Amino acid sequence: MPKLNHKKSKELFKKAKRLIPGGVNSPVRAFSAVGGNPLFIDSAKGSKIYDVDGNEYIDYVLSWGPMILGHSHPGVVKALKKAAEKGTSFGAPTPLEIELATMVRKAYPSMEVMRMVNSGTEATMSAIRAARGFTGRDKIIKFEGCYHGHADGLLVKAGSGAATFGVPTSPGVPRDYARNTLTLPFNDLQAFKKMCERTGKNIACVILEPVVGNSGCILPKPGYLEGLRKITSKYGIVLIFDEVMTGFRVSFGGAQRAFRIKPDMTCLGKVIGGGLPVGAYGGKKEIMRKIAPDGPVYQAGTLSGNPLAMTAGIETLKILSRPDTYKKLMAKSEALEDAMKNAAKRAGIATKFYRAGSMFCTYFTNQEVYNFTDAAKTDTALFGKFFRKMIEKGVNLAPSAFEAGFMSLAHSQADINKTARAAYETFKEIS
Ligand SMILES: *Cc1c(COP(=O)(O)O)cnc(C)c1O
Repeated sequence: MPKLNHKKSKELFKKAKRLIPGGVNSPVRAFSAVGGNPLFIDSAKGSKIYDVDGNEYIDYVLSWGPMILGHSHPGVVKALKKAAEKGTSFGAPTPLEIELATMVRKAYPSMEVMRMVNSGTEATMSAIRAARGFTGRDKIIKFEGCYHGHADGLLVKAGSGAATFGVPTSPGVPRDYARNTLTLPFNDLQAFKKMCERTGKNIACVILEPVVGNSGCILPKPGYLEGLRKITSKYGIVLIFDEVMTGFRVSFGGAQRAFRIKPDMTCLGKVIGGGLPVGAYGGKKEIMRKIAPDGPVYQAGTLSGNPLAMTAGIETLKILSRPDTYKKLMAKSEALEDAMKNAAKRAGIATKFYRAGSMFCTYFTNQEVYNFTDAAKTDTALFGKFFRKMIEKGVNLAPSAFEAGFMSLAHSQADINKTARAAYETFKEIS
């Protein structure tokens, strides 16, 4: 197969590196974990993304999750154009915020009251502040390999880019912040129970990705989430589900719906912005009434709830609410799972493929993955080779062994077949 031409991307990367740290505005985009140069993108449509050199790729990154309808969905684009003409931000309430909040609450009944913010990071940071304000406690628990955005105090044993780059605790985070963040292995209920027995009354909240998408795709063991729910209730600890990634991904109602757990608070982002910057946090009335101006816990945002972002979110959720939409999305995701597992088997390579709804990950290991330590056993060098060869075959995966891939409604059976063919050939080449 002739190598694709990446001339323009290479030139742009050189220029970008002079102006922007690593040439990118978010670390994993730089390809440093997999080698090679990042692709500079010109446009995207449906399941395809096009780089500045004119190459076409089937896209499973989907802007790291948001583009669940596929890129530049005509309905969303049309609504955005109309909204832009009316004004892009007013710094005053609009009916659109009520419309999106109503749709979100319908899908996530545990979010009785919610606030819109501009990113997942803002959502988790604010949810934790609310939980601390509500309980009057300082300490929080998070799990190894879970990523909750880049707020100080959450960059402790975090996944995503922080896992990719082996920065368990980032320089620049004061020790005093990190001191209040206790970390535990995911899927170990005994460890959680022990910590609560020791210091449960000092813990404001526990925050987790109910399916860990920022170390690949780690499913909760049966009974684990139920156990967390039970123990947190006992100690008055606020249970926060960070569903920034799993929201509208694992199911329409997220992981809380799929696993039938009612958290005290939920964080959303990614899909609810339909490709524009949005986050949301919400939960029990008595907690959310602590937020200013109802209560004393301060949290604000100049562009929060702005009409463009709300419009993209509303249009996306409207389309997702249509009958049979998730049936279709799940069927596509299942087809990809079958095809990928089959390709690995035929090629005789040891991989573990996991999927939760429309998110998935391939680990290059022959052991089951239950936590970050297991995930870290994936052969990252082999993944790097896999990744680079898949790009050359026209398949765009996340440039890290510790990131989830995503399926969209725009992916076709032909896309899935082509992906599986490319994966089979690549598995053969690298094994
Ligand atoms: C992406 C992500 C975040 C951070 O969201 P940003 O919009 O990048 O700030 C937080 N939590 C989880 C689970 C995520 O996947």
